[in-house]
Amino acid sequence: MSQLIVREAFALSALNTFALPAQAAQYCALSDSSQLPEVLAAQQRSGLALFVLGGGSNLLLTQNLDAFVLHMTTQGKRVLSQQADVVLVEAEAGEAWHPFVLWTLSQGFGGLENLSLIPGTVGAAPVQNIGAYGVEINDRLHSLDAWDCQQEQLVTLNAQDCAFAYRDSCFKREPARWIILRVRFALYPAASTPLALEYGPIRQHLSHLDIAQPTPADVSRAVCAIRAEKLPDPRQLANAGSFFKNPLVPAQQALALLAQYPAMPSYPQADGQTKLAAGWLIEQAGWKGYRDGDAGVHANQALVLVNYGSATGAQMKALAQRIQTDIHERFAVALDIEPIVI
Ligand SMILES: Cc1cc2nc3c(=O)[nH]c(=O)nc-3n(C[C@H](O)[C@H](O)[C@H](O)COP(=O)(O)OP(=O)(O)OC[C@H]3O[C@@H](n4cnc5c(N)ncnc54)[C@H](O)[C@@H]3O)c2cc1C
Repeated sequence: MSQLIVREAFALSALNTFALPAQAAQYCALSDSSQLPEVLAAQQRSGLALFVLGGGSNLLLTQNLDAFVLHMTTQGKRVLSQQADVVLVEAEAGEAWHPFVLWTLSQGFGGLENLSLIPGTVGAAPVQNIGAYGVEINDRLHSLDAWDCQQEQLVTLNAQDCAFAYRDSCFKREPARWIILRVRFALYPAASTPLALEYGPIRQHLSHLDIAQPTPADVSRAVCAIRAEKLPDPRQLANAGSFFKNPLVPAQQALALLAQYPAMPSYPQADGQTKLAAGWLIEQAGWKGYRDGDAGVHANQALVLVNYGSATGAQMKALAQRIQTDIHERFAVALDIEPIVI
């Protein structure tokens, strides 16, 4: 068991993919979940609020974090049970997401392939119900173990308990309450995996490679290739992925906008609302490739804000607000920021 070290005024710039300068008032990495009681005691002694940190890929740090930052670095993944049509796997919160997806595929299990190459950790994946190419974590999550800081007890929650919605969950709504410790997924044997190929250019990509009967691993490779083409790698150009959520508007409003902009992508939802593509709206408004100092909108992907070097979180937020105001004035559509803003 490694010794717990609590650090003061700890720099977080290397621990968030936007590379934004900010310090944690106190910082402690948790590599062994059996040390949780000790960590919680240290946090209570500090008198600071708790903030759980994963891979820092969904954060906009606009100021120092006046908190006790608990960095989840716990490792471990395992197959819990394997039946003819369902496989149960479990991973600790600090496991990196994409290597975990690759591991499930290498074990011969399908179900997570569309979520390949999403940065971050397993423990953070349920927080915003990560989704890509027609699949969300709530489609595959079996259950998770978490520490409930409010009730001061360890709980096991199933997918229904997590109250998942589009890029949302109970964890996002009550951020200081939960520490997700490990997550279990219900997957499929590769051969009987129901593949989701309809969303985005997955099918075109596979047919381009002459793959008529794709395996989950083929779909994962296609998703990785499509994402690598479309999204900047945070190791090369600092960013936090999609910066705005795709807005939901009443069907009437979508029809009025479609009459004005017939090429506008729109996706009617089961609840009667229509989902619009935030990136399309931002591109139409002329923001793609815009740069103000080191804060900018990516040249190939209008949904991604980028830090070209030394932008601060406040500068990134100011740029985001200018875009939100402009989109509202042009289309009467409110854009919500996807990352957690500190
Ligand atoms: C290039 C790029 C592409 C992306 N693409 C996608 C995409 O396709 N789809 C998508 O949904 N997201 C995407 N994201 C966003 C991001 O990768 C995900 O939201 C990811 O799950 C965040 O994980 P993280 O470990 O980095 O979380 P962090 O950024 O560290 O934390 C995010 C939130 O989760 C909380 N949290 C973290 N770990 C825990 C835990 N163990 N217990 C409780 N709370 C916790 C934090 O307190 C914070 O509120 C992308 C980001 C980037 C940079």
